[in-house]
Amino acid sequence: MCRPAGCDIFAMPTSGITDVVLFVAGAAIGSFLNVVIYRLPEDKSLLSPPSHCQSCNTRLGFIDLIPVLSYLILRGRCRHCGAPFSPRYMLVEATAGGLAVAAWHLSGFAPYYAAGLFAACAALLVIFFVDLDHMIIPDECVVVVALFGLALDGYHLYVRGADWAIPFTQGIGSQQLIIYLPRSLVGLLVGGGLFLFIGWIFEVALKKPALGMGDVKLAAAMGAILGPGYSLLSYFLLAVLIGAVVAVLLMVLGLKRRGDYIPFGPMMALAAIVMLLYTEPITLWLMSWYGYPAG
Ligand SMILES: [Zn+2]
Repeated sequence: MCRPAGCDIFAMPTSGITDVVLFVAGAAIGSFLNVVIYRLPEDKSLLSPPSHCQSCNTRLGFIDLIPVLSYLILRGRCRHCGAPFSPRYMLVEATAGGLAVAAWHLSGFAPYYAAGLFAACAALLVIFFVDLDHMIIPDECVVVVALFGLALDGYHLYVRGADWAIPFTQGIGSQQLIIYLPRSLVGLLVGGGLFLFIGWIFEVALKKPALGMGDVKLAAAMGAILGPGYSLLSYFLLAVLIGAVVAVLLMVLGLKRRGDYIPFGPMMALAAIVMLLYTEPITLWLMSWYGYPAG
């Protein structure tokens, strides 16, 4: 985890009740994320019109919109016309609630860090579903992820100074010139550049575009959070690993056949959420395959 050193001084007392409140708040935000997932790719307003049943067009009231609970109480059907709602609405709400609690605990109960971590995970949750539906990665969501990385890096630089930046040294004549560059910016360039390169290789090999610009931008944003080192490498390996497992599962279940197109964006988003929450254990685990000591 890329938790800032020294952010423990901001840590707050916590209890089981805090977890319950955070889950409810996270699930309520999840309810809004459902609207974002549905309307953002179609360029519709996120605020109006208010939520309504897709089938009978009745405006949904308070009782229909309680996160998670409404779905369970109404058994996943519209109260007015009985049309079934997709269980995905509840899944997104419950996941957002769980992410809020996870971000709180993994941040060491530091509110600012937890809020940024949750915002990045929520943006990635939206990317997961929008890419699944439309094969688009919305720029707005990528910007949220990148901003978290830049803010985190800015905080580290503020606390640790030049020690945290990456030195580039070059001898010019008898002088040693050292330039310090922020980790987030170097990570951004390495992440985006690597994906441009991988995309180009696939395009040459397969003679058709394999990665979209959205994938490249998301890789760059993750580079801003993880920096240009082993964690970024682990993120790519994890995305490919998840992609391979999902592809094999889909083929075994008969949902896809060899050669069918499977979008890579959702795998990248899923790997990104897992990686943001568990940066250190996953980096150590994946790098141990290459003979680096785990622990
Ligand atoms: Zn209805």
